[in-house]
Amino acid sequence: MEIQGYSIDFEKIIKTIKKGKYKKIALQLPEGLKIYSSRIIDFLEKKTDALIILSADPCFGACDIANYELKNLDIDLIIQIGHTSIPDSENYWIPTLFINAESKIEVLKVLKKSIPIIKEKGLIIGLVSTSQHIHTLGYIQKFLSENNLKSFIGKGDNRISLKGQILGCNFSAAESIAEKVDAFLYIGSGNFHPLGLLLTIKKPVIAIDPYSNNVKVKELEELKNQILRQRHGVIVSLKDAEKFGILIGTKRGQQRIDLANNIKNVLKSKNKKSYMIAANNFMSEILEGYRDIDCFISTACPRIAIDDYLQYKKPIITPIELEILIGKKKWADYKLDEITSI
Ligand code: SF4
Repeated sequence: MEIQGYSIDFEKIIKTIKKGKYKKIALQLPEGLKIYSSRIIDFLEKKTDALIILSADPCFGACDIANYELKNLDIDLIIQIGHTSIPDSENYWIPTLFINAESKIEVLKVLKKSIPIIKEKGLIIGLVSTSQHIHTLGYIQKFLSENNLKSFIGKGDNRISLKGQILGCNFSAAESIAEKVDAFLYIGSGNFHPLGLLLTIKKPVIAIDPYSNNVKVKELEELKNQILRQRHGVIVSLKDAEKFGILIGTKRGQQRIDLANNIKNVLKSKNKKSYMIAANNFMSEILEGYRDIDCFISTACPRIAIDDYLQYKKPIITPIELEILIGKKKWADYKLDEITSI
């Protein structure tokens, strides 16, 4: 079966279902693949004896395994297409199969556009990407080498399954080679991952987007400065905050209960009140009622505080931003919140 623009290993899915004799399967798809739901279900049900139940809840990453709630439906296998697994967040409740959706878009055209920038400064490059384009890194490294350019691909911590892969909450693959490189070349679309790199590793980032054929360097620096101004403004505005809501994500790969406990203790030592609030999916509507809270601290997905900030009526900060607010860290130490290996 073919899904336009992607390479998805449906054979592996069929083999797994048949081998495990699975009968009731939950299917999780990222937003971009949901338009193919009916075709995928028709195909899998025709090729196997299984009943497929589509999970309509949003699925933003491998951290988000629809497990506990599916137990009641007697699901015996979860298939999540579009993400690679987070090895240290194994699903203990229901066997889970992660199947990547590799983009078939060619990267050579936009890669060639970035070569003059790399050559001009003689940069040694660190290569990073998301699961969608990660399979192109070997090819890109070879191309750079043929152009007499040196590059490295790093290995991430236990939260990362592929070499060179970064998540919006984990840049350990980049960190592992940061000392050897002058700059990072990010392959993929969107700004969050390259911005996260800039804010966390603090080395120049060249982002090449094979969809728009754009090479971004200056634009990213400007965005980074804009975010830093915004985050600084938020932290300063909270100097008199007294009541804090500590957000705990219940998704398997986002749970940081120890961090939430530490935050509560730190706030108590500063004579501040805090309340733990747990949810599977944080969004502005579900926090609207808590009007007497001055500020929320997110220990769930780090993107909530940065990407979705404007959607919320009350400020949301990251645990690192809280440390700056209470004077445990300096503004110069600012970096993006990461969920590292547990
Ligand atoms: S926690 Fe957020 S950034 Fe990390 S994998 Fe999940 S959705 Fe992506």
